Parts: sequence; structure tokens; C-alpha cells
Amino acid sequence: MLNDNCIFCKIIKGEIPSTKIYEDDDMLIIKDLNPQAKIHYLLLPKEHYANILEMTEEQSVKLAKCIKKLSTMVDELGLEEGFRLISNKGKYGCQSVEHLHIHILGGNQLADKMC
Ligand code: AMP
Ligand code: ZN
Repeated sequence: MLNDNCIFCKIIKGEIPSTKIYEDDDMLIIKDLNPQAKIHYLLLPKEHYANILEMTEEQSVKLAKCIKKLSTMVDELGLEEGFRLISNKGKYGCQSVEHLHIHILGGNQLADKMC
């Protein structure tokens, strides 16, 4: 189920433009509009749920499948030297879009401390 008021659902439906890197039945990988590293992609599950606390068992299986798929695409995505996956949640996590997403950061040396 997608949500009419959600910016990532609109991207998934093609109502808002994005730079698509990869798409299949379960997920979309797009370029982040405001990159925090040389490579900054967002993995968007094609179902609307805000975060892992709202995720159903079935959605967690699909998300695991997406991450497994991502692991096979590391070289073609330019992430062969390493990368970081982040999923922000809530106020302290500074989540700004309430549709679960995983930041994929890489392409250059990242900071050794995250906060
Ligand atoms: P978060 O702060 O963890 O919720 O991450 C939301 C991310 O979505 C931020 O890194 C934004 O730069 C990114 N973002 C917001 N709108 C768009 C958009 N239309 N296309 C691509 N990335 C976006
Ligand atoms: Zn959504």
C-alpha cells in the first residue's frame, strides 16, 4: 500500500521525478537529492511504512531480500571499497521522511565516528 501524502510513495508512483539507480518489484534505489558522500543512494521499499517499528513480519522478509540483492550490486554501484547503510528513526535519529528508507553511503572515505 502506498500513501498519497508521502514523498517517497510519490517517487515510487512516478509522480515526482527521481534519478533511479535500480528498480524491482520490492524496491527502488534512487540518488539522494542532498548527497552526504560521493555516493549517496536511498533504498526505498515499495510499500509504505514509517520505520522498522511499523514493519510487518512480511515486510521484514522483503526488506531482507532487498538488502541481499543490494549485496550483489556492490561493484556496479561503485561501492567496492566499502559503504555504510543507515536508517534514521524518529526525532533523535533525525528522520525527515516517514517512509522507511536505507541510506547507502560510499564512494569516498567516511568518518570513523558517526556522532
Ligand atoms: P531522513 O532524514 O533519514 O528521513 O532522509 C531523507 C532523505 O531523503 C534526505 O537525505 C533527503 O535529502 C532525501 N530526499 C528528500 N526528498 C528527496 C527527493 N525528492 N529525491 C531524493 N531524495 C530526497
Ligand atoms: Zn510512503
